[in-house]
Amino acid sequence: MKFTDLGIIEPILKALADEGYTHPTPIQEQSIPILLARKDLLGVAQTGTGKTAAFTIPILQHLYQSKNDYKGKRKIKSLIVTPTRELAIQIAESITVYGKYTGLKNVVVFGGVKQGTQTNQLRGGTDILVATPGRLLDLISQGFITLRDVKYFVLDEADQMLDMGFIHDIKKIIAKLPAKRQSLFFSATMPAAIVNLSGEILGNPKKVSITPKQATAEKVEQAVYFVSKPNKSKLLIYLLEKNPEASVLIFSRTKHGADKIVRILGKANIKAAAIHGNKSQGARQRALGNFKDGKLTILIATDIAARGIDVEELSLVVNYDLPNISETYVHRIGRTGRAKASGKALSFCNTEEKAYLKDIQKLINQKIPVITEHPFPLDENEEIPQPKKQSNNRRKKAKRHVGHTSKESESNHKQKNRKTYAKKRRY
Ligand code: AMP
Repeated sequence: MKFTDLGIIEPILKALADEGYTHPTPIQEQSIPILLARKDLLGVAQTGTGKTAAFTIPILQHLYQSKNDYKGKRKIKSLIVTPTRELAIQIAESITVYGKYTGLKNVVVFGGVKQGTQTNQLRGGTDILVATPGRLLDLISQGFITLRDVKYFVLDEADQMLDMGFIHDIKKIIAKLPAKRQSLFFSATMPAAIVNLSGEILGNPKKVSITPKQATAEKVEQAVYFVSKPNKSKLLIYLLEKNPEASVLIFSRTKHGADKIVRILGKANIKAAAIHGNKSQGARQRALGNFKDGKLTILIATDIAARGIDVEELSLVVNYDLPNISETYVHRIGRTGRAKASGKALSFCNTEEKAYLKDIQKLINQKIPVITEHPFPLDENEEIPQPKKQSNNRRKKAKRHVGHTSKESESNHKQKNRKTYAKKRRY
């Protein structure tokens, strides 16, 4: 199957050809005909599958074909809502690329920056709006945006929206949309809350599912290293020096952990930058820009900041910490081996994380090969937690602090919860 077999109009085919894309990816092949037939779509797919083009191509085509129906200032006829600024920017960039011969316009709005530039662009009118939920509602309440002309609505990364606490915002947005519209709903996972939400948005949708198994097993070469927590940084330095890859994305479970890795690498004269929620929008964009341009070869990211990062030729993903949610592993390794490229994903696993590894292997239905030949093999005895002795004095002090939520005790509490959760998942 080629793009030319899908009924796509010439101006879009020309833009695809400019990009060197001749054959649709599985999600594109399945979704484009459904969307061109104006049906609602429920897509179970993650980024890295070609999802963005799967939904932007039909929207561009519909808008192009109905261009003459509209006179005067451009109205927002398509709304795409996505959870993070990075994803919003990337989607807008893709629309610009695929739509470059259509004469259609897009604007992107997201929080964390002053609104002036965005409102100026909105004043000029736009056909397509890409937005994160909070800023969208904010600009609607200020009267800069109206959704009354929206005919094509996309909710992207729905599960991530829920994880980030956007459910109420999403419901408010849906309430403002015209009832007569085509709706597209994408999520990487389908827990009950997402199924319910999709039911509120879609009317009798067609379903397309690109399973994680397909996405990972075929293209990404995976391996795991058993290594103690304190030795992870040494193993990382060893591997980075051994693999002078073009670009390496390293995942850390926490923001603090990401900063710590940057500092440790810095001491070893390895230049790296971190992106996470505590960094300013400017710092995140700069680091991401430098990484995309190849000026920076090592980027450390937390899961939320990295979701959807689209870097061509990303050759290596390192899971410095294994995620406790197995689907997250699939998202992470999906950063490499994008579309047709092949990639490599290496994971560090300490004793505590072995349960997570078990869950991940179950999900991907695959045993990840273990690399035993490395200078920092795991000695299980090293990792057995030693019960801390408490002096009488310290015990009294600890008692006095009960009910006091210092940052430290809050994080201990989270840690404990995580462990309980891991245990629950294990049995
Ligand atoms: P996405 O899942 O939308 O983030 O896309 C993943 C990557 O695949 C992006 O870099 C796209 O530009 C690229 N891509 C999308 N469709 C195709 C295609 N049909 N052939 C080759 N690459 C593609």
